[in-house]
Order: sequence, then structure tokens, then C-alpha cells
Amino acid sequence: MPKKQFKSESKRLLDLMINSIYTHKEIFLRELISNASDALDKLCYIALTDSDAGMSRSDFAVDIILDKENRVLTLSDNGVGMTRDELENNLGVIAKSGSLQFKEALAESKPAKDGENPADNTPDIIGQFGVGFYSAFMVAQQIQVISRAYGQDDAYLWTSSGSEGYTITKAERSAWGTDVIIKLKDDDENEKYSRFVTEHNIEGLVKKYSDYIRYPIRMEKEIYVPKEDNDNAETPDVNETEKKTELTTLNSMVPIWQRNRNELKEEDYQNFYRDKFYDFEKPLLYTHTDAEGIVSYKALLYIPAKASYDYFTRDYQKGLQLYSSGVMIMERCEDLIPEHFRFVKGVVDSPDLSLNISREMLQHSRELKVIANNIEKKIKNELAKMLSGDRGKYEEFHKTFGIQLKYGVASEFGMKKDLLQDLIMFFSSFSSDNDGRPVTLDEYVTRMKSEQKYIYFATGENISLISKLPQTEALREKGYEILYFTEQVDEFTAQIMRNYKDKEFKSVNDDDLGLENEDEKKDTQEKQEQNKDLLGFIKETLGERINEVKLSPKLKSHPVCLTAAGGTSFEMEKYMKTVQPDSAIRAERLLELNPDHKLFERLKDLYEHDTDRAKKYAEVLYTQAALMSGLAAEDPVGYSETLFELLT
Ligand code: ADP
Repeated sequence: MPKKQFKSESKRLLDLMINSIYTHKEIFLRELISNASDALDKLCYIALTDSDAGMSRSDFAVDIILDKENRVLTLSDNGVGMTRDELENNLGVIAKSGSLQFKEALAESKPAKDGENPADNTPDIIGQFGVGFYSAFMVAQQIQVISRAYGQDDAYLWTSSGSEGYTITKAERSAWGTDVIIKLKDDDENEKYSRFVTEHNIEGLVKKYSDYIRYPIRMEKEIYVPKEDNDNAETPDVNETEKKTELTTLNSMVPIWQRNRNELKEEDYQNFYRDKFYDFEKPLLYTHTDAEGIVSYKALLYIPAKASYDYFTRDYQKGLQLYSSGVMIMERCEDLIPEHFRFVKGVVDSPDLSLNISREMLQHSRELKVIANNIEKKIKNELAKMLSGDRGKYEEFHKTFGIQLKYGVASEFGMKKDLLQDLIMFFSSFSSDNDGRPVTLDEYVTRMKSEQKYIYFATGENISLISKLPQTEALREKGYEILYFTEQVDEFTAQIMRNYKDKEFKSVNDDDLGLENEDEKKDTQEKQEQNKDLLGFIKETLGERINEVKLSPKLKSHPVCLTAAGGTSFEMEKYMKTVQPDSAIRAERLLELNPDHKLFERLKDLYEHDTDRAKKYAEVLYTQAALMSGLAAEDPVGYSETLFELLT
């Protein structure tokens, strides 16, 4: 029988796996049990949706058989099994996704020190990357898989001793299902592989990693029973017992979400999270709901502490695992989680969902919509509770996932504004050191000065640049707080929201910041009129580059600033240039001059006596203003020459 080769990428990874010093080797058992449980789920689903299948849930189990003498560990399930092609396709390809990250993570993983539990110090990289079956090669010198697919007469044997390839031959199996037969490696100084054929060790591993698997995981176990001829069986004496073997179920089988909240400890929820979602970090928040009403359901929801490695990629799929009375009907039900809470992980179990339901029908199911709405509200309330009860934790959450909430406010024309507006945070001038703490809109509005009309915001690359913007001077002088928009989405969010608690958002770049009273306005207008010719001259000198020149009451110590009039901000212009370098989108430029600054006096003087030099001044003022607003000089060489001429 010629050997078939693994695909080359698979071969390399397999080599890595076989020779790995990864201390988490025991995890392979959980992976194989989880595969068996999936196979049982699939068949259970068929059985429940097709009454002709003639099976009942209680028939399904995973059996573990230990052969100490030959160092062989067998896992046997009566699930859907695999056809010849499935054996070939499922077991011939390793690490369908994330293989590169997996390699890196494996290379980085360190052995645990003496007395350390590897599960406590090593991220669970096997689970994270879907290389489950192959993890068995960390402990196996040979693996045989005998499988017979549901509804098929033939069974097949897949055999491999590692990276040099595998064979598939015809085999016998009396019923459908799969046996995974592992011939363990020889013990060496680093690893006692024989522990995987030791009863109490296997029992411990099943309890540790697979307790909540909803099918019995059974094993023949040695037990002591009172001797049959013992008259007083109620109080057995050690001397009067005998050793027997008995098929014992090792796991408790009750899924955690079906259990009473009072019986569960924080640790139970955390362990479940780690094992189910392969996240080594403790979740930031969990909540366990048991809802009774028009639709009854149980839900266990988690907010991760960090975004997963693929969270910001297209590969990431949101969704909750969906069960109907303990039977999984969907691995990832997207409709249960709105986009703005896509980071939430968890499970939902409802007896009110029909098992027969197709995925398309499920999307339109009224029950599912009710559950989804409740879950959305629940998450919102939990977050609001965290914000008021544990500010530091909330800020940590917001740092990672706040952007998601902001996109949530901005999407669908602001439909979710009311739901989310009190959960979003921004940096502000009241917290302006570089790692300043963000503020909520409610906090901003509550401490607004009585005469303050607007919620002011300034946009820029980072806090320190924004805090120096000349156009914020007048606002600062009045003691008004300014929100600092450092993320692309911030400005977008404010635009969609328009207002918060009846207070409008206003950019510091806006022409009219609403700071002047009628008299002051008149005064500025008069000055503007008096200097009409000079302003016209500057406009003419700068040409198409700017849209308008005017005198500004915003400026105090600075002579000049450049603001963006109209709807496009400088940040948007810059963003468009990065995504589309030839983008014609350009913010309208408004050059604002401080009429009370010495430089303005100088300019006036030059305009009257030396127009050539006045032109150069106009150039310098414009480019300097652009630089302060975070824009690049449009003609750096030409500009430098102008500057040098002025300096000499
Ligand atoms: P994953 O479980 O993440 O998909 P694995 O490498 O563990 O990756 O398994 C590959 C595939 O092999 C599974 O998706 C499944 O289709 C199939 N498989 C593995 N074990 C079994 C089993 N006991 N019964 C049926 N199919 C199985």
C-alpha cells in the first residue's frame, strides 16, 4: 500500500508538533474528545431531525480504552464517522487556518518549570489554531483511525506514524462511528507517556478538560466492591472487598449554563471560558442568565479581556453557540449578537427553538429575535454597570473594544445612538497628559459651564498635538472642556450623533464657536471691513490653496491658524489620501489671522510699503498654519527658499 504524502505545509507543522517541547501535551485528549463529541452532535442532530434514524440521545457515548501492556490508548465514539474521502480530506490537511501564527506561537511556547501547571502559564495554542487531531502526534508514535460513516456499509483504516505520510485501507467496523487508536511513544527522561494509559490520570484529565461534554465519556475502572458473600454489605471492611472493573462515566455531563448559578463559583465560569473559547486570559466580564417568559432561554456570555489574534481581521466571525435543550444546533449563530457587540462570546440554550429548523428559517425565527434583543439589552446593562462600578476595568474594556461601540453609534444612520451613547468615551482637555483618562459624554455635559452652548471637539493624530492647536486657545481661556478626537471613528460618530442631551457637537475648526456676544461680533466685523484690502491681497497671493482669509477672535497668543471649513476635516483628507493616494478630496482651507498680534501689524505695514516682502510673509504664515494643523508643506523646497530669503 503506497503511502500518501501530507500537504507540504502540513508536513512541516506535523514535524514541529511531533518534536515539540510543548508542555501542554495532555491537551490532545481534550481535542480528541471534543472531535468525538462533535461527531456525536452531528449524528444526534440527524437522529432528532429524522425520526427514521431510530436512535436516541442516550445511545451516544465516547469510550476510552486503556491497554497498559501495549501502551495503546483508544477513543471510540458512535458518532457520524467519516467516509474514505473524509478521512483523506479531514486528516490529510493540518491547520486549515492561522498556520503561520500557530508556528510562531509554538516556537515561542516555553516548557513549564518544576511544579508549575502548564495550563496556568502557557496560552492554549493547540486549541486556538484548530490543529486538534494532530496534537495526538505529540504523544503518539503511530495513530490509527478506523471509521465508518453513518449510513455506509464500509469502514476504513487510516494509519500514520508521523510526517512521512499516511495510508488508507479498507477495514471492518460493526457499526458507524470512529476509533482513534494511539500507540504511545516510549517514555523518556522528559516525559512519561505511559501516564496516558493510567486510569486515574485519564480520569483527572477528563474531569479537568471535558467535564461538561454532554455525552458520557466512559472507561472501565477498577473499583472495590464488597465481597458477594459478605453478610454485612452495608459496612464493608477493606479486607472483605474485592477488585472489579466497571464501566464508569467520568464526566458530569451537565453543561455549566444549565446549572444553578448558586452552585457555581467564579472559577467554574472562568475554566469553562478558557476551555471552550481557548482564551488563556480571564474574561473581563461574564454573565449567566436564566430567562423565563415568552421565550425561555439560558445564556452564558463573556467579554474577553483582549481582542483575539484575528479579531481585527476579516477571518473573525461573531456569534454565539446555539443549543436547543442541550443539543447544539449552530456553532456560531451570528444573528444573536449585533455588530457593535461582536466581541462577546458565549452560548445560548433555548427549549423554544425547534431542532428541525433550517438555518434560513432560524434567521426569521421570532424566538431568536426575542432572545437576540434581550441579549443586546443585557450586554448594554452589564457594560453600564461596569462603567459605574469599576471605572478602571471599563476603561480597559473601552481601550480594546470602544471603537466597536463608536462604529455602532455611527452605523445605520445612528439607529443605535440611544443604546450606546452613554457607553462611549473620548479623551479630553481635562485629562490631557499623554495617557490621559477618557471621559463619557454625560460627564462632559454635566460639568459644562452654564453659559457654554456646545460640546467642543478637536481632531488630530494624538493628544499632545491636539492640545497645542492654536484654534483651541479661546476655548481654553474660558475654561471650556474640549474632547480630543484621536481616532478616525470619533469624528464620524459625532457627525452622526449631531448632539447629546440637546447639546450640539462643534468642531474647534468651525467658523463660529459661539463665543462672542453681539458687540464682539460687530467689533470683529468692523475690523474685517477695515482690513478688507489686506485680506484680499493675502487671498490673491495664496490663490487656489485657500478658500478664505479672515480675522479671528479665537486666537490669543498665536498669530495664525488654519481651519477646515465645510464638511471635510483635515483628518478626513489625510485618511482619504492614505487609502486612495490620488484622492481629490480636500478640506476647504480657511486662514484665520489674529488682528491683535504683532505679526499682523507687521504684515499691514509691509503691505503698504513692500508688497513683495508681504507676499513672502503670507506664504510663511500659511505654511506654518498648515504645519500646526498637522498638514505637510505643499512645496517644501519653494517654501524653504522663501523662508531663507526672509532670514537673510
Ligand atoms: P477541527 O476539529 O478543529 O476541525 P481536527 O484536526 O481536530 O480539526 O479535525 C479535523 C476534522 O476531522 C474534523 O473537523 C472532523 O470533520 C474530522 N474528525 C476528527 N475526529 C473525528 C471523529 N471522531 N469523528 C468524525 N469526524 C472526525
